[in-house]
Amino acid sequence: MQQGVLRAPVQGVPQARDFALIDAPRPQCPEGGVVVRLSHVSMDPYVGARLRGRHMGEAAPEPMTQAIPGHGVGVVIESRCAIAEGAYVHLMEAGWRELAPALDAEVRVIEPGGLSPSVFLSSLGMPGLTAWAGMTQLARVRKGDCVLVDAAAGAVGGAAGQIARAQGAARVIGIAGGPQKAALVRDTYGFDACIDYRTDGWKDELAGALSGGLDVHFENVSSEILTLALTHMNPYGRAVLCGLAAHYHDDQSAPGVPFGLIIGKRASLHGLVVYDFYDRWDAFLAKCRPLVETGALVIAEDAADGLAAAPEAFERLMTGRNLGKALVKL
Ligand code: NDP
Repeated sequence: MQQGVLRAPVQGVPQARDFALIDAPRPQCPEGGVVVRLSHVSMDPYVGARLRGRHMGEAAPEPMTQAIPGHGVGVVIESRCAIAEGAYVHLMEAGWRELAPALDAEVRVIEPGGLSPSVFLSSLGMPGLTAWAGMTQLARVRKGDCVLVDAAAGAVGGAAGQIARAQGAARVIGIAGGPQKAALVRDTYGFDACIDYRTDGWKDELAGALSGGLDVHFENVSSEILTLALTHMNPYGRAVLCGLAAHYHDDQSAPGVPFGLIIGKRASLHGLVVYDFYDRWDAFLAKCRPLVETGALVIAEDAADGLAAAPEAFERLMTGRNLGKALVKL
């Protein structure tokens, strides 16, 4: 069985050359668990930090031994628990490998129906849950709100904007890097506008798009963008602090946000950790699966074909060059 590993401990931003493919023994099926043949493995920004031992106290994988971490979906091929062979499941700790063992408490049975199983790593997976939690449980988007989201072409940002729309937001504005991403956000995700921050004059363009004031901001990238969003915020606006993708590999903490601005705007800031919402998957799916099935929630996929293509694809994610949900198709 093939498995993706680190060659050696990672020093800076993970690059393709940091990874190797090795042959590993076929996993044993644990008592009370399953062996899953993975069809898709997710690549997420937190994994970059985890590879350096910088994520939620989780250790970095042992070089040349442990699989690169990642959520995954696939089919049960061996079972020593109540989950039937042939069932589709989602695993939190799948990893870059063809076969993954797991205890039954570590997997969730999914029913793809007419959907690709990869959707359960994207709009109906952890990124979708993150977006749903931010927009419905924390910022509580309501009818008429104006909403801003950055990294809007990605799975979290794209879902956040589309869920805000389904909550009744009157205007949904995105920020993204480059013309291809901005077009995806406008034309496929259906945002009212998407500002490409790599163009001259983008801050003026953003000010124009937000001229009626901003009610909810969903931050994925940096405190600089959060500060800018706050300057456009209506009194008592709400911001969700979901990620700092531009700063995960900095050696110093991200620059702060001016306190005076938060007071002046009477703003509420909600820190978001998706782990707190894992017990609300059913409520999330009840809201979002119909949106996916009717085409009201769409996320593009940036899929690497096979484990051999995973290192390059991971480097693209680490440098923000992915267009949509980054994953590996096995
Ligand atoms: P994305 O596919 O959106 O990838 C991250 C995006 O961040 C990039 O595509 C890029 O978009 C932007 N970016 C800006 N600067 C950088 C940089 N220096 N390096 C890399 N990327 C950069 O990822 P996801 O949709 O999976 O995640 C979006 C955010 O949500 C991340 O910050 C992630 O960590 C966070 N998250 C937080 C969770 C929580 O529990 N709080 C759970 C899940 C995700 P662009 O070019 O448009 O700027």
